[in-house]
Amino acid sequence: MGCGGKGLLIVISGPAGVGKGAVRARLKERRPDLLYGVSATTRPKRPGEVDGVSYHFLDREEFLRRVAAGEFVEWAEVHGNLYGTPRHPLEDWLAAGRDVIVEKDIQGAATLRKLYPDAVYVFLLPPSLETLRERMCRRGADSPAAMERRLVAAPGELAQVVHYDYAIVNDDLDEAVSRLEAVIVAEKCRVARQPELARWAAPGEAVASGRKGE
Ligand code: 5GP
Repeated sequence: MGCGGKGLLIVISGPAGVGKGAVRARLKERRPDLLYGVSATTRPKRPGEVDGVSYHFLDREEFLRRVAAGEFVEWAEVHGNLYGTPRHPLEDWLAAGRDVIVEKDIQGAATLRKLYPDAVYVFLLPPSLETLRERMCRRGADSPAAMERRLVAAPGELAQVVHYDYAIVNDDLDEAVSRLEAVIVAEKCRVARQPELARWAAPGEAVASGRKGE
């Protein structure tokens, strides 16, 4: 990987239909070491989705049992369904220094930012709202009501882009993946993420430890 020692958490957000799954899949081809933190959800499985790979599909009762047991780092209701980030294996992977990518809605990303201020927060944007509608129709994975609900929510979600570290427009998939990969490489090369650089520092001088801008 070249730079970096500690595991990096990459949090991706973006409205439904923006292509988060496609970007992640293509990125995984280029960076097979990157782990994906599978979420839990009460949403019905879409055609082609695999339990334990796409999501951990749970009924509401089991989901809420896990909430009560403290098994989620964060959870939120999104478009009428519950979604949550399982504490394990995420914490174990990060502790082991692995790079992990997760997909969260804007609420989930805001909660994670408090828990993981050193993570990198990336927002995926569509070229236009019209493109979003077209992509969602083409995907045909959700019922018309579910699709409408997601489209109505999109402008409010897009407004949150200003709270993210990076924004990438997913117009051309390969270009979007290249940009995301560039973000990851640059973040891994941050001086603050490489404590081993201390050996080059002048006596008594510390390696920068803060986040960007601090
Ligand atoms: P979808 O049903 O289209 O797969 O996902 C709906 C929304 O839930 C997306 O914005 C997705 O990023 C978000 N999401 C997926 N997993 C989680 C999670 O674990 N926590 C939160 N807060 N949002 C999630």
